[in-house]
Amino acid sequence: MDHITQCEVCHKADAVGVGALPGVPLSVAFCQRCLSANVCPWWVAVAQTALIGGLDHARPEWIEMVENTIEHLGMTRIEFDKAVTEITQMIKNPDSQGGEEEKRK
Ligand SMILES: [Zn+2]
Repeated sequence: MDHITQCEVCHKADAVGVGALPGVPLSVAFCQRCLSANVCPWWVAVAQTALIGGLDHARPEWIEMVENTIEHLGMTRIEFDKAVTEITQMIKNPDSQGGEEEKRK
């Protein structure tokens, strides 16, 4: 097998292996740098936090991973919270994507 997978966290480096994430039924390809940083892909951090119901309900290990991920990817907590809010609204109200007009038809 000489196929090299790209890191699913930073999308910059080649992955060195695939690891499981704590509490998430998903395996992700990591490069060495991301593996040692204890981070996860941005969308996983956002989606999982939304499913939990926000970071206020998350376990300390998950909060740590999210904070690591935000810093590692050069994002901000504000951007993260905004993304979580958007996903949370989609989960709670899946029809809202079509807009109010669609619903009244
Ligand atoms: Zn990486």
